[in-house]
Amino acid sequence: MSTDTTTALAVLANPPSSDASIEDLAAAVLDRLAHEHPQPGGGEDLFCLNLTSYMGERMGNVLTRLRDAEAEQARLRHHRSELITLHEREELLFGGFICLHCTPADADDPDDNVYWPCPSLRAVGMTDEEAIALITAHRAAIAEKARLEAGANGGAV
Ligand SMILES: [Zn+2]
Repeated sequence: MSTDTTTALAVLANPPSSDASIEDLAAAVLDRLAHEHPQPGGGEDLFCLNLTSYMGERMGNVLTRLRDAEAEQARLRHHRSELITLHEREELLFGGFICLHCTPADADDPDDNVYWPCPSLRAVGMTDEEAIALITAHRAAIAEKARLEAGANGGAV
């Protein structure tokens, strides 16, 4: 986003957009869509012009709210990605995965293992499906790397 746009949005941020104002805007958009516009030669479409003006006057703080929400979403995505990296997994010999971050380093009892995805990852919304997809993608990347290395060696084993 350009500096000019950022400056303009900062000016438009007051008052902050409320849920009610967004609902009003949505209603205006729907009213405009549902309205039967005059046929060509039927005169000015004052109904639509009025609604368009109404929407334009109220759009600034909605844009700043959108920008702020997107920035917050990006921040949360980044934080989640860092958490996933921090809570690295290790595959157990007999199946399953443990979280290397949450499992104590001196764990000598299998009951001390914290299985992956650990509660920290569950707390940021990691599902079994996402965990399986990450493991599958990781295995595919390893297989691809091995395939490329084998190709680089002329297929020699
Ligand atoms: Zn963990």
